[in-house]
Amino acid sequence: MWRSYGRGATEITAVRGVTGQVNPGQRIALTGESGSGKTTLLHLLAGLDVPTSGAVTWPGLGLRGDRPVGIGVVFQAPSLLPALDVTDNVALPLLLAEVPPDEARRRAQDALDQLGLGALRAAAPDELSGGQGQRVAIARVLAGEPALVLADEPTGQLDHRTAEHVLDVLLAAVDALGAALVVSTHDPAVADRLDERWSMTDGLLGEPVGQGRLR
Ligand code: ADP
Ligand code: MG
Repeated sequence: MWRSYGRGATEITAVRGVTGQVNPGQRIALTGESGSGKTTLLHLLAGLDVPTSGAVTWPGLGLRGDRPVGIGVVFQAPSLLPALDVTDNVALPLLLAEVPPDEARRRAQDALDQLGLGALRAAAPDELSGGQGQRVAIARVLAGEPALVLADEPTGQLDHRTAEHVLDVLLAAVDALGAALVVSTHDPAVADRLDERWSMTDGLLGEPVGQGRLR
């Protein structure tokens, strides 16, 4: 799979010939320096972007139209809607998926409770610390019960201790779901907590380290 931006002299190829497979329950660290193509690859895996050539298929996930269902995404920053309280932020993807409002809010509150965020149910996003915001974003993913979680440097903007806590929460959430996880990071301490490593350099994916395989 390839992804280029622009054309001609200004063309940048962010992902070049990447091939891979994510198996159920697998936990992968996607490592690489800034600009190596991690975000581009994660967006392609999430179906938020379309490859210039090649394709992403998720035979283990269901489809709604031509989009896979069961993928949860955690971005670098929490990306919460400021006008909604924490519960409604967590419930929003469920509401958009036409889950009845009462059930959506109940699932949102369950996810918040599970991550130790029950006290923040009615808080506004601008009252949250960076670490709390990222935990709420993880609760939002958890409430959707995905089979695959994609996280793009989810602790990149946090201090070391907060980052460790947020990573604990993310791994616990993924455990509870039995979901697969791909988390991009340039922090070796994060990568060391996962089962295997995909290392990216200039858009190329190197040999995986760990028990995984690429084809
Ligand atoms: P990483 O997440 O590892 O920092 P990115 O996927 O963000 O890497 O970027 C990979 C390369 O693609 C970089 O050279 C970056 O400048 C370029 N790039 C990313 N997004 C765009 C875009 N929307 N338009 C043009 N170039 C982009
Ligand atoms: Mg990035």
